[in-house]
Amino acid sequence: MTEPLKTLALIAHDGKKADMIAFALKHQDTLRRYHLIATSTTGKLLIDSANLEVECMLSGPIGGDAQIAAKVAEGKIAAVFFFVDPLGKHPHDPDIQSLLRICNAHNVPLATNPATAAFIISQQAL
Ligand code: PGA
Repeated sequence: MTEPLKTLALIAHDGKKADMIAFALKHQDTLRRYHLIATSTTGKLLIDSANLEVECMLSGPIGGDAQIAAKVAEGKIAAVFFFVDPLGKHPHDPDIQSLLRICNAHNVPLATNPATAAFIISQQAL
């Protein structure tokens, strides 16, 4: 019996979406080995720009981060790639902090910038 694919979550704030696309293009082959979920706008960009299959949640500001946090809490996510824009203001900051906290509460690998993401995605153990 084949194991179900592990799930990775991908999210990028608007100021970091170009970085997310560059990351996805560079690691396309690896990312294809996972079930991918993303907040809506990030997901659509990954589908269009990196030709990946992505299950899109709601957009971050209307609950997408919270949806992903719930999946992390349920143990359904192997790693989260959340490229945060430290220079931007975000109306959904409580949801962002919640997602980061839930990842830490459940010891789920969390990359908040491309440099860390490159390390995590290159781990065989993921
Ligand atoms: P988006 O959400 O992918 O729908 O833009 C990201 C976010 O701001 O959390």
